[in-house]
Amino acid sequence: MVRTRFAPSPTGYLHLGGARTALYSWAFARKHGGQFILRIEDTDLERSTQASVQAILDGMTWLGLAWDEGPYYQMQRLDRYREVAEELIRAGHAYYCYASKEELEALREAQRARGEKPRYDGRWRPENARGKTPPGVEPVVRFRNPDEGEVVFEDLVKGLITVSNSELDDLVILRADGVPTYNFGVIVDDLDMRITHVIRGDDHVNNTPRQINMLRALGAPLPKYAHVPMILGADGERLSKRHGAVSVLQYRDDGYFPEALLNYLARLGWSHGDDEIFTMEQFVEWFDLEHISRSPARFDPGKLRWLNGEHLRRMSPQALAARLARERPEVFARIERAMDVVAMTAAVQASITLLSELATLLLAFAEPPAPDRALGDQHLSGQGREVLGELLERLRAAQWTPEGVKRAAQEVMAARSLKMPQVMMPLRVAVTGREKTPDIVAIVAALKREVVLERIERIVA
Ligand code: GLU
Repeated sequence: MVRTRFAPSPTGYLHLGGARTALYSWAFARKHGGQFILRIEDTDLERSTQASVQAILDGMTWLGLAWDEGPYYQMQRLDRYREVAEELIRAGHAYYCYASKEELEALREAQRARGEKPRYDGRWRPENARGKTPPGVEPVVRFRNPDEGEVVFEDLVKGLITVSNSELDDLVILRADGVPTYNFGVIVDDLDMRITHVIRGDDHVNNTPRQINMLRALGAPLPKYAHVPMILGADGERLSKRHGAVSVLQYRDDGYFPEALLNYLARLGWSHGDDEIFTMEQFVEWFDLEHISRSPARFDPGKLRWLNGEHLRRMSPQALAARLARERPEVFARIERAMDVVAMTAAVQASITLLSELATLLLAFAEPPAPDRALGDQHLSGQGREVLGELLERLRAAQWTPEGVKRAAQEVMAARSLKMPQVMMPLRVAVTGREKTPDIVAIVAALKREVVLERIERIVA
């Protein structure tokens, strides 16, 4: 059975790159009827925070990337890492190293001075150590990397990768305090969690040969690897805060839809012909590792915004209003007092891109500002005021639908031989406080009658 995992380090928010990796891992498991595991790699004690764990869980939940197992926490598995390290020591694949920081720094200095790449020299390998363990030093455990040969693996995105073992030195796998280093935690977990496909950012591709060597030393089956190219900003640099919002939850707060963000991320570095707009069901059906691009993708905030608008306009007004109620309950309660929210949503849906714009616009119609002086002088005095007075009487009796409101306006027009804007502008300004809105007839009819009458009364009184 296919088992994939997402293994974030809780040292910040869930960012777009992480979310895309999670999406690919999740979709691959879904597509193959497998399982998706969430694992929190919290071994960096200085940088890991509970707030970050929460941000990751919240981000995943908001995106709808449900995990079948976990979250597992590496810091709750320390006994297991110790156990596997000891197993490696017993089999001659690992050993205790007592070298002090100062000693290792001196070694690196000397190597650099000779123009060599700094590299651990194997001084505590059993055949070199001669049993002299310094008193009072807590040793680390190092993996004994093979000296000869090369590591060859077929990356499902990048193709064949070959690394010579002479490039790899004896890696620390367990620190003196018993906390595993990244590479060791990953292989123990990938093994214990029976991961079949490791899908992750290609910033880890250089770690993979080391991980493969350790898994082999344990006689473990190897997962398949797929390293996904990074996401870059428009300037070609790796995506970071400098490029604007990179936290997934920031997009939620800015009024984006999770399915639009996922659609965008899915398409960023993977393609299915020319298909650009799709649902998550379609993505799960179509997703494959073969069509992941081999070169880095560039993040384009304008494209994401556009895509959000496409998703928004494909929703029914009912669904969109329900989303507003769910995401912005307090604002929704205030809006609902003044209008039929579904009808109003239908009236403005074509003119907005983000859920936050819907919230702002509907709230402005529910609780409009008083029209400014200039607007008032232009539209709400003199003829405008008289028009409103007559319209008020007709709206009291009108059938409260767009047709009914329109008929009332036409009657005033006809009675006073006016043009449409001479009736509609005073109505628009009186009811919304604005000079520009989508179809004012639809907006008026979506508001409650007493709300509209009260706003007009305030002007003609
Ligand atoms: N914890 C690592 C990270 O956040 C990912 C490890 C992995 O996927 O192997 O970059």
